Amino acid sequence: MDKNNLFDGVIDFNNNEYKKHSELFKKIAEEQNPHTLFIGCSDSRVVPSLITKTLPGELFVVRNIANLVPPYRNVSEFLATTSAIEYAVNILSVKNIVVCGHSNCGGCRALYMADEDLKDIPHTKKWLELAGNAKKTVSGSALAARDKKEFTGKERETLTERENIKEQIKHLYSYPYIKYKSEKGEIKIYGWHYIIETGEVYNYSSEKNIYEKIDGAPV
Ligand SMILES: [Zn+2]
Repeated sequence: MDKNNLFDGVIDFNNNEYKKHSELFKKIAEEQNPHTLFIGCSDSRVVPSLITKTLPGELFVVRNIANLVPPYRNVSEFLATTSAIEYAVNILSVKNIVVCGHSNCGGCRALYMADEDLKDIPHTKKWLELAGNAKKTVSGSALAARDKKEFTGKERETLTERENIKEQIKHLYSYPYIKYKSEKGEIKIYGWHYIIETGEVYNYSSEKNIYEKIDGAPV
């Protein structure tokens, strides 16, 4: 079978994975009750259900370039990410929100590209302004802390991806209903950094202000 053929993939799914989980599909057909809102990057290498080993019905997923969360605003526009967050929290009552960034994120890398290189993607360039503070933090305070030593490209990339996750969590708290539910202990917010080549996921600890590998060790 030509694995590149999307239609063959559907047939394969029907004959195999669907059959394996047919009882589950029947059970969740009428209603979803996801426990987690997963905000991830659109990057094809990030597969939320795979890295969390979850089944259909468990994750409510919103993906966009660089896993960004626009700060809360009450405007009359078409707001895709904001609507997904609102629906997950206020209607589906998810118990967790995960903001998941990843290694080698093209969106984070594009923050450092020249305007000329972004001329064909004006909307992406505008969208990435939401990660502007992450870039500022990396370029400013993080650099100062290392005695002005220049980062390697890879170091800067990783730091930017990780600062970006923290920045988007800040944006989440600008949503009044998320702030309220978080303060009441009804919702938990996590920041994850997924490493594509190793499969490792690092969880952000706001108390320690570091990323800790999720490996089952006591924290
Ligand atoms: Zn990405």
